[in-house]
Amino acid sequence: MVRQDKISYLLTGFHCTGIEPIYPDEPLIDLFIRTIISQGTTDELCDSTMNNLQLKFNSWEDILTIEQPELANMINVCGLSNQKSNSIINLLNWVKSTFNKMDMKKIQIWNSERIFKELTSIQGIDLKTASIFICIGLRRDVFPVDIHVHRILIRIGVNSIYTNPDKIYKLVNPFIPVGKEFFLYAHLIEHGKFICKSSNPKCNSCMFNEHCDYFIKKNEWVTRAFEA
Ligand code: SF4
Repeated sequence: MVRQDKISYLLTGFHCTGIEPIYPDEPLIDLFIRTIISQGTTDELCDSTMNNLQLKFNSWEDILTIEQPELANMINVCGLSNQKSNSIINLLNWVKSTFNKMDMKKIQIWNSERIFKELTSIQGIDLKTASIFICIGLRRDVFPVDIHVHRILIRIGVNSIYTNPDKIYKLVNPFIPVGKEFFLYAHLIEHGKFICKSSNPKCNSCMFNEHCDYFIKKNEWVTRAFEA
């Protein structure tokens, strides 16, 4: 069961900060590659790796002229380099063959259903990566659930059953107010990085601790999570 009241609780808390997240302003293909590289690494390492790639290659098409291990080596510092380099190469090949050039602008005329279907058919592009791209890059009403978002939603108790991010994604999306997807996602990402961290969350300084299942009933939460 999805607790709509807890989604409202999160939205109200983030509204009270007065911070309005800003969409990144970069070409769609850059944003997609950044999304792939950013998984499981820090913003700093991701940014410096992206900068290095942009300096090294005149266009993303040039990546297709090198071997996959070479690309893996270039992004090695961000972790999962074999997986990420394969995903990037598969994405670039798909873009080139679908749009006849290294540009994704035309994807904007597709409906979201088609975009999800096509993107997740690319080897290495999962639901999470596709939904982040659609939410942030295409600015559509899709609420991505990555590891930070998943962790916070479970801890707060938006969904009381411990389940994987893809299932949470499908469960909670119908409950996110239209137009609030990016706002909530962007705030949760920051909250997950600095307050509700995977280990040693800073519960005592968290604005949501009053109604957070994890904080109020820590042991019960852990038991329930691992029994489910
Ligand atoms: S109270 Fe603790 S566990 Fe709950 S959301 Fe805040 S930091 Fe996370």
